[in-house]
Amino acid sequence: MLGATRKHVGINKVKALGGFLRAGATAQPFRLEEHYEWGTTAHALRRLRDCDVFFSCVDRLSARLPLNELAYAHLIPAMDVASWIHAVDGQVDSISTHAHVWSPGIPCAWCRQTLSSYGLMQEAQGAQVGIEHRALMDFS
Ligand SMILES: [Zn+2]
Repeated sequence: MLGATRKHVGINKVKALGGFLRAGATAQPFRLEEHYEWGTTAHALRRLRDCDVFFSCVDRLSARLPLNELAYAHLIPAMDVASWIHAVDGQVDSISTHAHVWSPGIPCAWCRQTLSSYGLMQEAQGAQVGIEHRALMDFS
């Protein structure tokens, strides 16, 4: 059975996923290319166009956007996985994860609302998140 263990904590995502894929591979021969670079650079996006499938494990919505577009524009199945960990006073109180497949015939990240204009705006606002509501405050 495949599963994350304590030994995977702090391991590069590419390396950790590569180990899982090799352990569960049934294709003969199985060929996996590991690239340790940001997946959203122009160079990486060009390289991804030649892949049979790719994995998206990005931390930000803004990085997810070009990968979603690439998957549908070039008909490349992709698996997008993300987790959010919330802690209060140093204690984890919730973990949520999504795992989506992006592929022709399957709703994209926009249709599933993993990507949204509002979410991208909030992410871009950073520490100023919600500032649009402050403009409506009564300052009298
Ligand atoms: Zn869509």
